[in-house]
Amino acid sequence: MQRYLWQQADGRRHAYDTDAERPAVGQPLTTLCGATVTPRTQDMAPGMWFDQTCWRCDREWRVREGFPPEEIPALATETEDAR
Ligand SMILES: [Zn+2]
Repeated sequence: MQRYLWQQADGRRHAYDTDAERPAVGQPLTTLCGATVTPRTQDMAPGMWFDQTCWRCDREWRVREGFPPEEIPALATETEDAR
């Protein structure tokens, strides 16, 4: 099983650590980017994930999995917070 998985919640697809977190409807979930989000019923339905990827989680995932530096995007290039 993969250590890290994605979960949509609060309008983005975040990643979480399966060793520490277990997503459940209405329960706070701490994600790799440090945000605490709360999945809703529709967030738990497979195939219903239309929200944007959280790039901070994507980056944190790559760092934790030991990706080579050239595959880890710099935070300065992110547009994640342009809401
Ligand atoms: Zn995130």
